[in-house]
Amino acid sequence: MPDLDRVVQEIADEMRARPDRGEVASYIPELARADPNAFGLVVIDAEGHAAAGGDADIPFSIQSISKVFTLTLALGMVGDRLWRRVGREPSGSPFNSIVQLEREQGIPRNPFINAGAIAVTDVILSGHQPREALGEILRFMQFLALHSGIVIDETVAASEKRTGFRNAALANYMRSFGVIENPVDYTLGVYFHHCAIAMSCRQLATAGLFLAYGGRHPLAGHSVISAERARRINAVMLTCGHYDGSGEFAYRVGLPGKSGVGGGILAIVPGKASIAVWSPGLDAAGNSHLGRIALESLTKRMGWSIFGA
Ligand code: GLU
Repeated sequence: MPDLDRVVQEIADEMRARPDRGEVASYIPELARADPNAFGLVVIDAEGHAAAGGDADIPFSIQSISKVFTLTLALGMVGDRLWRRVGREPSGSPFNSIVQLEREQGIPRNPFINAGAIAVTDVILSGHQPREALGEILRFMQFLALHSGIVIDETVAASEKRTGFRNAALANYMRSFGVIENPVDYTLGVYFHHCAIAMSCRQLATAGLFLAYGGRHPLAGHSVISAERARRINAVMLTCGHYDGSGEFAYRVGLPGKSGVGGGILAIVPGKASIAVWSPGLDAAGNSHLGRIALESLTKRMGWSIFGA
């Protein structure tokens, strides 16, 4: 078995040196300020051993990676009834596509495209004030990451609110079908804010551990969800976690994963480890360019693809 610490270190060094870094997202103006040269990689196992390379402790905007955790919370609140409001099929469309919603009567394809994640946020919001719902999400992240200092970057949230016309269109459209139940501004407010949570690779990898170990967080010492639910969330991450780049990610990396336009990716090696990687430059599908390449190299060298070594 190759030495994990060495492999992670070598990959971090290789990635830092590469000239092809992708394009930093700029449709949310505040995200454009990210340093394209940043790169971090952390792998954590059930014993809490962390193999870390590069900018492992610098917080970045987790963006759509938050959707894994809001999906977990919403399933905990309403169980499988959630699947009446959102599907679980890959979309094959860009993350903010409107066309598909019209064809499918306002029911988003899956919980990870923007429309689906906004519908999931609406489920968490129902019966609460936006502030309470957001507090619930943030506390969940702090609990899973074993870090009470995790915060929402208000500048990023405000920047997305100012420019989030496409998400507002998706939310209003779903409201017209009754898929969104709360005032659209409230739902979007909570959505923009949970996307703006800032975390480091180390914190994110720690937070993902419950998905690697059958729903039980080995370091928090708590059962977060059932093993069956963890398995299913991993399945949705594998098939839908990278928008219309999900097939390519499964082909090259072979792990359940979820990307965010801040350049982060959370990837799960069932029974073995939780991984977070961060490099702000994105590929054409909106997924971290070097993040994906680093994960491909890591799974290959460790023999970690769920499809076989
Ligand atoms: N907050 C971003 C948006 O709604 C999330 C997109 C992403 O990370 O892929 O546009």
